[in-house]
This record gives sequence, structure tokens and C-alpha cells, in this order.
Amino acid sequence: MSDAERTRSNTDSHNIYADHAATTRLSDAAFDAMLSFLRDDYYNPSTLYSAAGKSKRAVERAREQIADTIMAKPNEIVFTSGGTESDNLALRGAKPCRLITGSIEHHAVLNTCASLAEVGAEIVYLPVSRYGVLDPEILENALIKGDNQSTLVSVMMANNEIGTVQDIKSLTEIAHKHGAIFHTDAVQAVGHLPINVDEMGVDMLSASAHKFNGPKGVGFLFVRDGVGIRPVQTGGAQEKGVRAGTENVAGIVGMATALNEHIEHQNAEIQYLMELEHRFSETLSDRLGCSVRYEHNFADNHLPGLLSYSFAGISGETILHRLDLRGIKIATGAACDSKEAQVSHVVKAIGVPEDMEAGTIRISFGMDNAPEDAMRVADELVKIVCSIARM
Ligand code: PLP
Repeated sequence: MSDAERTRSNTDSHNIYADHAATTRLSDAAFDAMLSFLRDDYYNPSTLYSAAGKSKRAVERAREQIADTIMAKPNEIVFTSGGTESDNLALRGAKPCRLITGSIEHHAVLNTCASLAEVGAEIVYLPVSRYGVLDPEILENALIKGDNQSTLVSVMMANNEIGTVQDIKSLTEIAHKHGAIFHTDAVQAVGHLPINVDEMGVDMLSASAHKFNGPKGVGFLFVRDGVGIRPVQTGGAQEKGVRAGTENVAGIVGMATALNEHIEHQNAEIQYLMELEHRFSETLSDRLGCSVRYEHNFADNHLPGLLSYSFAGISGETILHRLDLRGIKIATGAACDSKEAQVSHVVKAIGVPEDMEAGTIRISFGMDNAPEDAMRVADELVKIVCSIARM
């Protein structure tokens, strides 16, 4: 039995988890790698006695492994508590006077921008197309207008609600041409899409372990050599003084193990998730008329396995709860937004017709989904949408 088949058997025919963009299950290999650092090898890696050597070496080995997966150097990896902290460290640590960002960024970026605006930074929000794509020309126009000595451009690599993948290489080239530095929130992309920081040219890149079958509460920020950032929290000298606080040794080891696993199987994962997506959308297209739905996944490039739809006159929350009763877990938008009833800023930014805004759902498949799962989610979704439409 292959690893993928073994993992897939974790989803039984009744319970289907199709919300991998919210979080993923910790992989068995990551769990095994973490265990000894949670219990036996618990020493603080900053201490000097020999017993702590194992923790220290494990952290440095993980740093090398993670750097290798994105073609960075080990000293360019800063361990953090996850995507939110990595984004904060990049945006606040760069101390920009001007910050240019997209209108469909995660709240970890948008709310940090709002907070920086309060202390005097100028924030420019760029619009996106109806598929969520940021046109490099729009970025260029924004950069032409100002002095970019202290400008930071922050554009996410893959959107967490609609899956759009941006042309980061082109956007970075434009930022650099005009003297700005470039950060990308790659939280949804790391592990799932090929990433080469040299080819992309980015100065900083955020990642979070729980999006690629690593543990929650750990992530990293890539900071290119020579790009100076200031710490945002005061404390010890860990992570070369950029991020104070005792390292989450087990989490870091689990993150490196999970990321390596993904990189090893990445091409197969992409193919497999595209196949699931295809089966899902075929079933939906065959059985639902186009008139009731609006798809956000026509961008040339989008995150494999992530599908977003809006339905006219139906609440996404109603769909979510009815699917939940059938054992199927999906999302209405970003998980972080699920307590807020208002329409997501991403749905607004891509101009979903007003009567469909509230009827937006996100389905995100992962390697633990079997092909039959995709068919069953589509089947149940059709039944729910048709029964509500009849009412
Ligand atoms: N950025 C993006 C694009 C995300 O999808 C998320 C989480 O959903 C985050 C940042 C925040 O990451 P974390 O949950 O590790 O704080």
C-alpha cells in the first residue's frame, strides 16, 4: 500500500474532509519525527550542556532541509509561530514608509497594513481581475507614482479563498526595477507548488507548517541575505536576533519532515489533485445549469484541488451546514473569517454578482481524498442546491 493510499484510507465513505486550505492532518512521519523532542530530548537548544546538542542539531538540520526545498540558504530561514507571524515580521520588520499590496490578501497581511497605516505608513491596495489576478502593469503604475526608497510590495502567491496563483516572478522584477523590495505570502503554496526563491527573485516569503501536513503553530520566513529586517518582538537573541523566543524544536522538526514529504511527491500530488478537481467540476457541470453558479477558478494558474463557487440566492452557510450533516466538511470562505457573517473581501474584490456573494463556498481537496470523495461531494452539493432552489 502506497503512502498516499494509506493516508487516503483515513477518510471513510461517510466523513469527507474537503477543507485542506484551512488546515491539514499531521503526517505520520512528521508525528514520529516530533515525538522524541516533545518528551525525551526536551532541552532548550540555546543551553550550553552537551545534552542540548541534539535539539540544537535538529533545529539546524531542519533549517537546511527547509532551505533546500525552496533553493534558499539555511541562514535565510527564520523560524516563526506560523503564517500570521511570518507576515507580521516581514511587513513590520522591513519598516516600510510605503506598502503596496493586493486587495485579496489574507487578513494577516491586510490587518497588518491597517495597523501600519495608523503609525503613518502609506498603504496602496491594488485591484485584481475577476479571477483574482493582479496585472503586473497595475503594480508598475503604482510604483511609478512614488519614491520607492522605502517601499515594500507584498503580494500573496496563492489565494486561500479562490486559489488564484500570481505571477510572482514578473511582479518581483517590476518591484526591483523601481527600487522596492518584495514579500510574498506563500502560506497556501509552500509544499504544494514548486518554489525557487532565486528564480522568483523574492526578498521575503512566508510559510506555515499546518498547511502542508506539519504541526500547527510553526512556520518560517525566508529573508534574503542582505535584506535587513528589524525584530518585532523584544527578547532573547534566538534566530540571529530577528525572532526572540525559545524555538519550538518539535514543531520545527515536524515542519521540515512534512515539507520534505510533500516535495518528494509534489508532481504526483499536483496531477492527482487536478484529476479530483476535474471529476468534481464535471459532475457539477453535468448536473447543474450554469445559470445558478459562478466559478472563480478560470485563472490560467490556480492552486490544484481548491475550487470556489458562488450560487445565486442560496447562503453558503446553509450549504456548509447541510453538507456537514452528511459528514462533508467544506468552507464558506477563509476559516479565519468563519465567525464573521459579512461577505469576504475576496468575493467583493473579484466582483461576484451581488445575488451570489453570500452563496460562496470553497472546497479544497487533499491527498487523503479518494476520487470517490470528489464525486460524492459534487453529488451531495447538487442535491442540496437543487432542493433549496426548488423551495
Ligand atoms: N496567509 C494565508 C494565505 C493563509 O491562508 C493563512 C491561513 O489560513 C495565513 C496567512 C495565516 O497562517 P497561520 O494560520 O499559520 O497563522
